[in-house]
Amino acid sequence: MKILKFGGTSVANPENINRVKTIVQNEVSDKIAVVVSAFGGVTDLLLHTSQLASNQDLAFKDGLKKIEDRHMGTIKELIPVNAQSAILSKVKSDLNILETLLEGSFLIGELTPKLSDKIVSYGELLSSFIISEFFKTEELDATFKDSRELITTDESFGNAHVDFEKTYHNCDSFFKKSTHSVTVLPGFVASSNAGNLTTLGRGGSDYTAAIIAAAVNASVLEIWTDVSGMYTANPKLVKQAKCVSQISYEEAMELSHFGAKVLYPPTIQPVLSKEIPIIIKNTFNPEDAGTRITKNSNGNGKTVRGISHVGGISLLSLEGPGMIGIPGISKRFFETLSLENISVVLITQASSEHSICVGISDNDVEKAVDTVNEAFAYEISSKKIKPVLVEKDLAIVALVGDNMKSHQGLSGKMFSTLGKNNVNIRAIAQGASERNISAVIKKTDVKKALNSLHEAFFEENIKQLNLFVMGVGNVGSKLLDQIKQQKKYLREELKLNIRVIGISNSRTMVFNEDGISLKNWESVLTNGQKADKEEFFKKINQLNYRNSVFVDNTASEEVSLTYSDYLKNSISVVTCNKIACSSDYGYYKELKQLAKQFNSPFLFETNVGAGLPIIDTLKHLIASGDKVNKIEAVLSGSLNFVFNNFDDSVTFHDIVKQAQEEGYTEPDPTIDLSGVDVMRKILILARESGYQLDMNEIVSDSFLPEESLKTNSNEEFFETLKKNETEFQKIYKEAKDKNSKLKYVAQFENGKAKVGLQKIPSGHDFYNLEGSDNIVLFYTERYPDQPLIIKGAGAGAEVTASGIFADIIRIGNF
Ligand code: ADP
Ligand code: ASP
Ligand code: MG
Repeated sequence: MKILKFGGTSVANPENINRVKTIVQNEVSDKIAVVVSAFGGVTDLLLHTSQLASNQDLAFKDGLKKIEDRHMGTIKELIPVNAQSAILSKVKSDLNILETLLEGSFLIGELTPKLSDKIVSYGELLSSFIISEFFKTEELDATFKDSRELITTDESFGNAHVDFEKTYHNCDSFFKKSTHSVTVLPGFVASSNAGNLTTLGRGGSDYTAAIIAAAVNASVLEIWTDVSGMYTANPKLVKQAKCVSQISYEEAMELSHFGAKVLYPPTIQPVLSKEIPIIIKNTFNPEDAGTRITKNSNGNGKTVRGISHVGGISLLSLEGPGMIGIPGISKRFFETLSLENISVVLITQASSEHSICVGISDNDVEKAVDTVNEAFAYEISSKKIKPVLVEKDLAIVALVGDNMKSHQGLSGKMFSTLGKNNVNIRAIAQGASERNISAVIKKTDVKKALNSLHEAFFEENIKQLNLFVMGVGNVGSKLLDQIKQQKKYLREELKLNIRVIGISNSRTMVFNEDGISLKNWESVLTNGQKADKEEFFKKINQLNYRNSVFVDNTASEEVSLTYSDYLKNSISVVTCNKIACSSDYGYYKELKQLAKQFNSPFLFETNVGAGLPIIDTLKHLIASGDKVNKIEAVLSGSLNFVFNNFDDSVTFHDIVKQAQEEGYTEPDPTIDLSGVDVMRKILILARESGYQLDMNEIVSDSFLPEESLKTNSNEEFFETLKKNETEFQKIYKEAKDKNSKLKYVAQFENGKAKVGLQKIPSGHDFYNLEGSDNIVLFYTERYPDQPLIIKGAGAGAEVTASGIFADIIRIGNF
């Protein structure tokens, strides 16, 4: 005989019930029992409605109406008209009793656990009756059996304990006599010896099915639900979770205890002793193999088999000097909790015995605090023990696996993964069976913790990077193009999975938790919400993804001031915006310090020489113990472009205009032409070399006339260039007469920096610089006479974007 159990979603509506029928029809060669849950959502609705009634809120009538409509509607859709009336009238009369019960609760203003069980039982009682009648009309040899006549319990209403001896006897004799091929039974409900209705706890229909399976020595127990088995983590929270094909009873039990709701924890006990396999199957994809739960784990040596979590946890700590060495404190503590029926989910005790800390359900906190404080009132008043401390809104995450005990380093990996992702661990416990390691964390960190742990333990080193891109002008849009192009390669070759979750320009911003399509991001962004820097940060922080990277492609000072917020929340920052690193030295230092403290890289390779590996090289030199003595460089791609193309056949104005139009200048070209941009770059190189320097200490010899430096708009600025054309031609002629070329040079030596236009004679390293090229000469202790030279295109959207991309990949390998 086989037992099949169908959960709430599987029977949520007529369409799904039809699927159930097809599954049952395919299995009917054997005698089967079909245990069903209430129609999806009905249990919650019944509980909510009874709460309303007991609060004397007339809105309970609306709840009742909804319940009635769900059931009557399902009958009308499933059952042929000629067979409907008897079924409708039976269900209607049940609903009338339900109404009377609710009205009773409303009048008295009370809801005892006993009455609550009676009310909530209608979910399963009605669904099983309707489904059995439907099966009959579909030519199945089906019958209905009320589980209350089979399963006997004590009177712990809401979560009753089964009298197995009696129950097994009842089930065995019923099924031995029954000749029908399909018996439909309600899950969840039972009755006490005294004949009162009881229930088996939320999710209890799984348990009903397991009890019947054990009673009749079934060949298999099939749990049909809305996912294709037991996954490495809850698939609704971890997209990358994979179905586990086979798992041991103990592992499955441990996972379900720690929140894998797919199986109600007590379910395993009855079938385990009889070694009846459980198979978890998907009603919506019946052809999927599902998960087989048996004696053997067959994990092929895998250590961690699953990751799960339980929410709604609080920590309760008892501490104080009076606890040291005094026997019996823990005993009294646990006794006090147990007398109040408070279940302890997790225990840790410091070895100094200075404190005991337990995890309990949020629902029990108030009761627990009162009773513990009362029990230790004497010690508290004499200051030997502090009043009990409470921390709420926590959750437990747990790694589970039979083989974990024989492997070192798993907890190390677990905690370092959580630490790297800035998930604060409040308490730790390892099960004595060593089948699980648990950590208590903040409720708001659960999704991030599950995903980072899943990545670390199951995803064959594929690392997911979650990008939030601000600024999609020249550089930003090129970056998105490049990511789109390289996505597949990065995934396959570098095991990096890059998702762009948020994009913003100065007008609008969008977020998509599944990743924004890089094919049509422009139109998605245009229809986004109004852009707002603070909201952008808040949203990223609230999403709380692991490996989050904020990418700044703007030139905005305001944006650069938000970096510290990101870094403090373990969100890495990649930027081509130079302002942060070249403004106040204190802020630059703070950002570097935050990056270290919060394990969140702060990378700005493109601040100097666009995509050229200048800062990275410098970092490696310093890290390996070299010391920079002198830097000479041509660092402005824009000025190089301008002076390489300027001669007596064109005007200075036209060349600058061309440079701006081709994207070689900052949005405000005075930043380049005044030398400020070069000052920022040499400043950053000096700082990265380990020197403390500020902008006002750099000597700048500007070639621009005073009036150009004082303009307020790009138009005004270009006007002054036109006006001063003879000045510019004079500078050009002087250089030409000396057979030299004009280059804007930055120098750093003996802790001092200067920038300015120089006439470079032929033969000099700088003489042959083409187009927008940059060149940097590092004179260091290891390269004293022949400098280390880096040279190449140092401006332009394409190379800048590729430099940002390289920084993002660096974070991926971090
Ligand atoms: P049913 O109504 O069929 O009893 P439940 O909602 O009780 O279904 O259980 C199925 C749900 O369990 C899934 O939809 C999934 O969200 C959740 N779940 C939690 N952890 C896991 C896991 N490790 N594997 C599979 N499902 C899980
Ligand atoms: N209907 C009950 C619940 O939702 C029992 C079950 O579905 O397993 O908790
Ligand atoms: Mg369930």
